[in-house]
Amino acid sequence: MKIIVSIKQVPDTSGKVAVNPDGTLNRASMQTITNPDDMNALEAALKMKDATGCKVVVVTMGPPPAAGMLREALAMGADEAVLVSAREFGGSDTYATSQVLAAAISTIGVEDDDIVMCGRQAIDGDTAQVGPQIAEKLNLPQITYAADIQVDGKSVTVKRMLEDGYMTIKTQTPCLITCIKELNEPRYMSVGGVFEAYSKPLATFNYETLKDHPLIDATTIGLKGSPTNIFKSFTPPQKGAGMMLEGADKDTCEKLAGILAKKHII
Ligand SMILES: Cc1cc2nc3c(=O)[nH]c(=O)nc-3n(C[C@H](O)[C@H](O)[C@H](O)COP(=O)(O)OP(=O)(O)OC[C@H]3O[C@@H](n4cnc5c(N)ncnc54)[C@H](O)[C@@H]3O)c2cc1C
Repeated sequence: MKIIVSIKQVPDTSGKVAVNPDGTLNRASMQTITNPDDMNALEAALKMKDATGCKVVVVTMGPPPAAGMLREALAMGADEAVLVSAREFGGSDTYATSQVLAAAISTIGVEDDDIVMCGRQAIDGDTAQVGPQIAEKLNLPQITYAADIQVDGKSVTVKRMLEDGYMTIKTQTPCLITCIKELNEPRYMSVGGVFEAYSKPLATFNYETLKDHPLIDATTIGLKGSPTNIFKSFTPPQKGAGMMLEGADKDTCEKLAGILAKKHII
């Protein structure tokens, strides 16, 4: 059994967010982290490794510095890492990103008892599209928003979070699961893990590696293969300071109604 975890390097938005004059993120000037939901996906995979001894492979598509994030995943306990990186893949929207990742994951190999794991959503692009798109392109059953995962042989049972409750879904491996933060508490790297990380395999898949894969051609990858067009990007205006009315008496309610009426809200 093998678990392939797709992880993405994202700007650390808990610090200062730098925006270019054209409204795009100034990624170069910001610190990067592993996307938080992806840390939960990795932790779930490492827990399965602890329990069963299965292999954990992490994969990312990104620029060469994303290798640093992969080393951190190896230091946490992953066995192998794959960096998917090439100029031809740059400018990809979610459709083209999932096309390349699906090609990379199928090149790593998805066997009968394997599971592919993703985060639910990346904190920068925020679409939650890439995981489900990878599943579609690899023709795998998918379960999204996993808050609990139980694996028993080829049977996979997932407690899936809904807006107002949970649903339990059963499927079979091979399958793809997207994970949410409620699933677990990601572990830290250990000192021993950091040393070991540098002797574990980290492969790079470039355009040459993937160009003959059926999912890859110039019309399905990079900017040319991206059906999304951005017509306008902008920074939303800052919200004004809020106003707090204390109390629930008649006067306060009348005052609140007056303010709302003046703003044509009621
Ligand atoms: C026209 C256009 C051009 C773009 N050009 C670029 C560009 O040049 N460079 C750039 O960085 N972004 C670019 N983007 C943004 C890029 O498309 C998205 O960041 C990317 O497709 C992932 O989408 P998301 O962030 O919404 O991820 P989500 O769909 O929210 O992510 C869900 C999960 O999918 C997995 N995942 C997502 N992306 C990756 C990844 N790269 N590697 C591994 N796992 C992943 C993770 O498990 C993640 O938790 C472009 C977008 C558009 C529309």
